[in-house]
Amino acid sequence: MAKKVLKFGGTSVGSIERIINAAKIVGKEHAKGHKLIVVVSAMAGKTNELIEQSISISKEFDKRELDVLLSSGEQVTCSLISGALRGIGLIAKSWMNWQIPIITEGDHNNARIINMRTEEIDKFLSEGGIAIIPGFQGISKRGDITSIGRGGSDATAVAIAKIFKTDSCEIYTDVDGVYSTDPNKIPVAKKIDKISYQEMLELSSLGAKVMQPSAVQTAMMYDIPLQVRSTFTDRKGTDIINQENIDYSKKVVTGVAYSKDDAKITLIGVQDKPGVAASIFEPFSENQINVDMVIQNVSSDGKTTDLTFTIKRDDLDKTLSILKNNKKVKIKEVNHNTNVSKISIVGAGMVTTPGVSYKMFKALSEEKINILAISTSEIKISIIIDENYTVEAVKKLHKTFDLD
Ligand code: ADP
Ligand code: ASP
Ligand code: MG
Repeated sequence: MAKKVLKFGGTSVGSIERIINAAKIVGKEHAKGHKLIVVVSAMAGKTNELIEQSISISKEFDKRELDVLLSSGEQVTCSLISGALRGIGLIAKSWMNWQIPIITEGDHNNARIINMRTEEIDKFLSEGGIAIIPGFQGISKRGDITSIGRGGSDATAVAIAKIFKTDSCEIYTDVDGVYSTDPNKIPVAKKIDKISYQEMLELSSLGAKVMQPSAVQTAMMYDIPLQVRSTFTDRKGTDIINQENIDYSKKVVTGVAYSKDDAKITLIGVQDKPGVAASIFEPFSENQINVDMVIQNVSSDGKTTDLTFTIKRDDLDKTLSILKNNKKVKIKEVNHNTNVSKISIVGAGMVTTPGVSYKMFKALSEEKINILAISTSEIKISIIIDENYTVEAVKKLHKTFDLD
């Protein structure tokens, strides 16, 4: 008998039939004698719908009120799945964020779970009950309702696995595991049996929506094995585990991810002298703007140079206004481009294999795809390209690294 977290994402609870189907999965697991904590997302599309409603009230909708609004989506699914479980004769009970309570720290709309009270729910589990907990939310120490960032039900599931010391954490979703790239966009994508926390963290941070990055990070820190599997089929899913348990001798690249979240800014005619880059980037860091890739050209006349960098697209307006008001540096011209996408290859096998970047750049040149910026880490290479070539580039790299 094990103690398990079962997390159901938005599509998995996207209709009444699907909630009943999820309840059947929970019922089967319960029949095996497991103690179960079920974490649910809002029904698919609900969170977006609530955000749109808030925007139609006001473009500057209060963040505290937004959290009150958004948390309602998961509350609905909790009671519906609990009702479905009771309907098939099981003992189930839902708890709201403030009843447990799930304590969070940090800003509204982007808080972090730091603790939960476990005694009452543990007692309920010992008596054969199935506990239902809403994903994506908590309360602050002051008692205000908070939400923990989009896709945050994954993070709730992992936090519960850690705090309740469960034996496993199963993420039920609309695909049957983690694939070498998004299977809904690139049908030749292949399912991965086992992937390391590090690789999953890179892939999800670089656009693979299947797991939320902060959930993977917590799982990695506390060595909590995760399993991603389908709500709609019985097929075996993907284990996200410690790197030591994976054989990298045959595989260099594990997956290809892409995102359209970035914007590229080029500063033309920047003074070429010590301290200029620091003066440009200092106000970005003060304003929590994350700069990702940076390229500085060699100055041909020894006086001015061009500087290109990427930021999150959401930060573009703020960044442009900071640049305009920066009196410390002289810049001749500022250009920006939002029609770009970031394509990344990820693989722990890269550490020991030379020539991976050459192979990547050559493959793209064969497709006549121009690379606008590059960044690398030990286990990933990311490039920025024209957005129109996204699918072509992903397909080509997928094939080049034998992932088809
Ligand atoms: P949930 O609502 O269950 O949390 P998400 O929509 O957040 O599900 O994540 C599942 C989706 O992630 C899939 O439908 C798929 O389109 C997308 N996805 C992107 N990259 C990958 C990948 N490498 N492997 C599997 N799914 C991926
Ligand atoms: N409902 C929230 C969202 O759509 C959280 C989640 O589904 O994980 O982002
Ligand atoms: Mg998700």
